[in-house]
Amino acid sequence: MLTLEQLKKKSDKRLIGLDPVFKLVLDKLIERCYARGVWVLITQGLRTYAEQDALYAQGRTKPGQVITKARGGYSNHNFGFAVDFALLLRDGRTVSWDTLRDDDKDSLPDWSEVVEEAKKLGLEWGGDWRTFKDMPHLQMVFGLSTADFRAGKSPTQAQLNTVLAKINLLKMEDEPMTAEEKAAFKALQNTVQKQADRIKTLETTAKQPKVPAWAEQACINAKAVGALDTANDGSFDFYRMVTMLDRAGVFKRGVVAQ
Ligand SMILES: [Zn+2]
Repeated sequence: MLTLEQLKKKSDKRLIGLDPVFKLVLDKLIERCYARGVWVLITQGLRTYAEQDALYAQGRTKPGQVITKARGGYSNHNFGFAVDFALLLRDGRTVSWDTLRDDDKDSLPDWSEVVEEAKKLGLEWGGDWRTFKDMPHLQMVFGLSTADFRAGKSPTQAQLNTVLAKINLLKMEDEPMTAEEKAAFKALQNTVQKQADRIKTLETTAKQPKVPAWAEQACINAKAVGALDTANDGSFDFYRMVTMLDRAGVFKRGVVAQ
């Protein structure tokens, strides 16, 4: 079993040179996937134009399969806003691009789980592209084209802040409570339980099936003068009232012996 830190370390080198906010998002992605039992590896990050050109040559002027449609300067990888991911198998070494694997055995393909988490974080997935499906590709470009990037444009601070706010929100949802928060939560639970118990008591005592002992004599007196037919379905308030009237001398005493 790899710890989260050990897993993250394996992607470290590929995250160098990426936009810092994009990097935070990827960090969160690895974390959230790990929590679901899915191990993500970042296999490609920032590429120089020359590296991009070399990849572009593959399957065209050089042997191999075509793996990119972009020459140098035409890929978001060249600007630090794109990565490619793969799955890391449980041996902690083998990299897999099998989109149907289900290592955490939850009947969901691990690849789809990564994509789902990525989208929650606001990332764009290359598998959604119509012309050239790029299954391992994830990017966050803030509506900018590679032409924009080539011209030196970058995301606005407001755009970056929106992403940071989203990460913070998810952090609050994900992180377990501190001991202090747990204690406060427990106290709150106790209060709620006590209130529930109290309400239950009030509800049962509000409808007394029997005349309470302290109101018995008053009821007897009230019945004796014909002021009361039955004393068996009253509430506390009712018995209190009967007792008060009795004490005020409304029902003649002495008809029934004590
Ligand atoms: Zn890519």
